[in-house]
Amino acid sequence: MRTRHLVPALGVLLAVGLTTAPVAGAAPAKVPVATGYGGAVVSDTPESTQAGIDVLRRGGTAADAAVAVASTLGVTDPYVAGLGGGGYFVYYDARTHQVSTIDGRETTPRAATETMFVDPATGQAYAFPTAVTSGLSVGVPGMLATWQRALDRWGRFSLRDNLKPAIAVADRGFTVDATFREQTRQNQGRFAQFGATADLFLPGGQLPVVGSTLRNPDLADTYRQISREGIRAFYGGDIGRDVVSTVKEPPLAPGATIDPLSGLMTVGDLKAYRAIDRRPTHVNYRGYDVYGMAPSSSGGITVGEALNILERYRLSDMDEVQALHHYLEASRLAFADRGRYIGDSDYVDVPQQALLSDRFAKQRACQIDPTTAAPAGVVAPGDINGSAHCTPPGQATPGGNDGDHTNHFVVSDQWGNVVSYTNTIEQLGGSGIVVPGRGFLLNNELTDFNFTPTQGSAPDPNLPAPGKRPRSSMSPTIVLQHGKPFLAVGSPGGATIITTVLQILMNRIDLGMSLEDAIAAPRASQRNAAVTQVEPAFLQSPVSAGLLALHHQLAVRDTSALDPNIKISPDIGVASGIEFVGRGKVIAAGEPVRRGGSAAAVVRSR
Ligand code: GLU
Repeated sequence: MRTRHLVPALGVLLAVGLTTAPVAGAAPAKVPVATGYGGAVVSDTPESTQAGIDVLRRGGTAADAAVAVASTLGVTDPYVAGLGGGGYFVYYDARTHQVSTIDGRETTPRAATETMFVDPATGQAYAFPTAVTSGLSVGVPGMLATWQRALDRWGRFSLRDNLKPAIAVADRGFTVDATFREQTRQNQGRFAQFGATADLFLPGGQLPVVGSTLRNPDLADTYRQISREGIRAFYGGDIGRDVVSTVKEPPLAPGATIDPLSGLMTVGDLKAYRAIDRRPTHVNYRGYDVYGMAPSSSGGITVGEALNILERYRLSDMDEVQALHHYLEASRLAFADRGRYIGDSDYVDVPQQALLSDRFAKQRACQIDPTTAAPAGVVAPGDINGSAHCTPPGQATPGGNDGDHTNHFVVSDQWGNVVSYTNTIEQLGGSGIVVPGRGFLLNNELTDFNFTPTQGSAPDPNLPAPGKRPRSSMSPTIVLQHGKPFLAVGSPGGATIITTVLQILMNRIDLGMSLEDAIAAPRASQRNAAVTQVEPAFLQSPVSAGLLALHHQLAVRDTSALDPNIKISPDIGVASGIEFVGRGKVIAAGEPVRRGGSAAAVVRSR
């Protein structure tokens, strides 16, 4: 099982998080909740939220505003967003009342092989950190193709118009806050290896000072070139050629101490890239229609399967411990199936319909014992070919990555269109490699593949292949009630994305919390492992004693044993959502505290 190099296995309680408050002087101020009319945005940074609000005020749709938000995040949240990455765009069209999705996931180059992450010298998989900081892990970026596709389908403005706010912020710069400095500190060692990365993010060789201004003129120029030439400047033009040469030979700083693996990407791979329109996943949960992201993400199916299992129980009549017990067990079961069955559906036959059927949910639910957590901690995948018998406990499926390296944002507009968009460059700081002269980091998304088979004698759906998309956990979600938007929600957090979205849906729909409370509530994440990962506040809350009595093992992510300098926050996820409360009114809500808090805003407060 692979682990993140900054994120070792769950361990003892780490009570001190590094979540930091935003710093005064950063403009405009961050507010985690905003209520009002005419459209809304919740994203990670004040500048990106403002960019979206400005586009909405000028008459842009939610898709226009989303492109402004995403491109501005490439400036102000560059370690989790930007041109070098990919993501999943979910859209509710108020005119057609349809939910649609765009799969903008990165692909492998055509020269990729199933054993691309196996070291020919040893026959063993490369160490995870070796793969992360390399050209080899860089997938063909899908971000820009997604933006263009979204605008082609639902935009009123051009890409050029929608890039303007980001260009202005990149030219002007943004104010470094404690969160940004801390994220840079966690990457300092590897950023220093690459000249262009160090020049941009380690000014004068040092961490950026809180309160200082970080400008990115190279990125402003890159966006200008795309504005003039269109996305072909990236998918085959100059910018793409720079991406390819950077991937092939990652440009090291003088005195660098690493020798990164080179990548396989060609300009032809960039030319061949397409963002794909996909049908969303759909389940009905207690009368709500929950739409999510189909493969190549595992998010929609895994959230949907767990909801189908939970729907068999009256959670709202249970005490909180029992409700959480069922949530953890449903998630455990759904993760077993995720590991066995889900990969890029253009390459593997994903039994989506079976996994999302009530019949399958029934077969899985019979394993939930109200008096105890699954005895072995790990459950086997279900038999989608239909035996209604309970499957016995079995082999572990890797829980996958559990970082918080992504961003999710939501947008609504005056017409009632809605965007739920999760996008990433994978690891915090991606591959660590900035394309020289271009101002953006490249992803390391291909490390989301399994490096070697994980499913014993069964085929592994998530091994690399030419042009394939690595399985994601991203779960941008839109929930309708009586055909109208009720909720848009999502989160970063690697494989914990799935449990964060599931827990928020349960908190809101079953436990009667407001959206703000559903997001702020302490989180627990069970991903078919003996130990359930929890936040410190969850461990300290009264429910944990009840869950321990049901034989759940709870632990807070502890990174202190690995490297005392790199203390990763024990927070799970950084969620954002919009609830539609009727008569055009929305509640836009994000995180009050996690990762420095979210920036929520509405077009009109009254
Ligand atoms: N690459 C991850 C995924 O697609 C997201 C990165 C993260 O949040 O750690 O699931």
